[in-house]
Amino acid sequence: MLTGLMMDYQLTIDRVLEHGNRLYPHKKIKTKLPDGTLHEYCFHDLYGRVKRLCNVLERLGVEPGDRVGTFAWNNFQHVELYFGAPGAGAVVHTLNIRLFPDQLAYIINHAEDKVIFVDATLLPLIETVADKIGGVEHFVLFNGPPGGVETNLPGQIHDYEQLMTAANDEYSWRVEGENQAMGLCYTSGTTGHPKGSLYSHRSMYLHTVGSCQAAAIGLTENDVVMPVVPQFHAMAWGLPYAAINVGAGLALPGPHMQPAALAELIETERVTVAAGVPTIWNGLYHELKENRRDISCIRALVVGGSAMPRSLIEAYEKELDVNVVHAWGMTEMSPLGTVSKLLSHHQELPQAQKWDVKARQGYPISGVDMRIVNEEGNELPWDGTTMGELQVRGPWVVREYYKLDEGEDSFTADGWFRTGDVVTITEDGFMTITDRTKDLVKSGGEWISSVELENLLMGHTQVLEAAVIAVPDDRWQERPLAVIVPTDASDPPSADQLQGFLEPQVARWWLPEGYVFIDEIPKTGTGKFDKKVLRERYPG
Ligand code: AMP
Repeated sequence: MLTGLMMDYQLTIDRVLEHGNRLYPHKKIKTKLPDGTLHEYCFHDLYGRVKRLCNVLERLGVEPGDRVGTFAWNNFQHVELYFGAPGAGAVVHTLNIRLFPDQLAYIINHAEDKVIFVDATLLPLIETVADKIGGVEHFVLFNGPPGGVETNLPGQIHDYEQLMTAANDEYSWRVEGENQAMGLCYTSGTTGHPKGSLYSHRSMYLHTVGSCQAAAIGLTENDVVMPVVPQFHAMAWGLPYAAINVGAGLALPGPHMQPAALAELIETERVTVAAGVPTIWNGLYHELKENRRDISCIRALVVGGSAMPRSLIEAYEKELDVNVVHAWGMTEMSPLGTVSKLLSHHQELPQAQKWDVKARQGYPISGVDMRIVNEEGNELPWDGTTMGELQVRGPWVVREYYKLDEGEDSFTADGWFRTGDVVTITEDGFMTITDRTKDLVKSGGEWISSVELENLLMGHTQVLEAAVIAVPDDRWQERPLAVIVPTDASDPPSADQLQGFLEPQVARWWLPEGYVFIDEIPKTGTGKFDKKVLRERYPG
């Protein structure tokens, strides 16, 4: 092999901050503080404070490779930690504030977090595990009341701003190379313990560049980005890194995640790209129907984490003139995998078919390879109808879980990651999720897609949320049960109405066996329908 003669330039995340600071020092990061006021500073301020933070971490005894936990909303301090911990050679470990206490304690202990930075507004939540996390040496609090706080947390308690004021803002990055670990995120699996994805500088750098491709999210300096997706959910889908990399402004909602507050932030900050899970955009849509605001500044409403119903994509575009960009990814993929944007050959399609395309999860972005396989592990065709398990590989996909001591079958012998999603892929590369493997309804030996039924049901005007689960059946093995949240509790649709609505749209044997009406679908820590809870509640 003739070796190329190009530089061995290490792909590390401090380069992103250096680049952002050099090129766009005056670009703004704005945060809605807990009291509702707006905090703002520029990339250059961020740069100086990240260096201070690195000195703070050293003072607290953080060594390269140590894990530094964060327990916080989306805010500027959290962005500082995204760069500061890796800049000091450590690993930023984002803790999901919505985990059950046992799971939270498990991941803190499993990761062996040495220091945890806590948003003081969330103190009562982390205090629920105070007696189980004795290994943590320091807690650093921000957004707290001026006089400090009383807490039963173990270890030493510090005030973030006091430590920052005392620290120097000169620092040489302690990054040793691109394969050094820099970030850690756990997913709460439905079985077993949460599993950790340990990102490297290289994987996060490449994900940053990859997600900035025009064919992916495609941020530019003209954008103002509002990640509603929490910074503890797969690194806010990489958006803080991507924004700093290209000079896009950031608008961070802090704890103000209610639809009306989000609408206000979009309008006042002229947000151009906002990203979140379907539940958030469903809530915002209903808010905007009641209280109109001008959100025409949005050029891409990015949605992922769960399937966005086609009806909602259509409603956003038709009624609010907002372009929806459906994306799919996983914590194990840093997380971006696919994006659904119309290609040239879609431009002549009738509008209804364009929405069909946009409701798919989309094509793999450059850097991600996909294949579908059957239960025997044989590769299946990309014909738009054949369903199989999706497997992926690429430079920002995990190759093994962090310190996993239990059996693991997520990786194939030939080096692919098994996503656990059941999908079809069209000839032109558009992937559609039909289910998680464990959520499929197997009726009479055939598969029914719970996701498709849910999306159709959520297209009914009287349905706010719909989740479909399998219930055991003597004759067919399993049958679908639809759990419905009505848009207006005082005027719910009847089961017959919903059945009549579905009948012309699906095969007869797909029609749900029954309907139950509830006030709210239980959600997981990252806002997905919690079907495990539903299955326990409705065992059939
Ligand atoms: P997490 O790592 O917690 O975000 O979960 C990843 C899983 O969320 C994927 O394997 C999918 O099952 C699901 N998911 C993510 N994005 C989408 C999407 N756009 N449509 C349907 N499911 C999605």
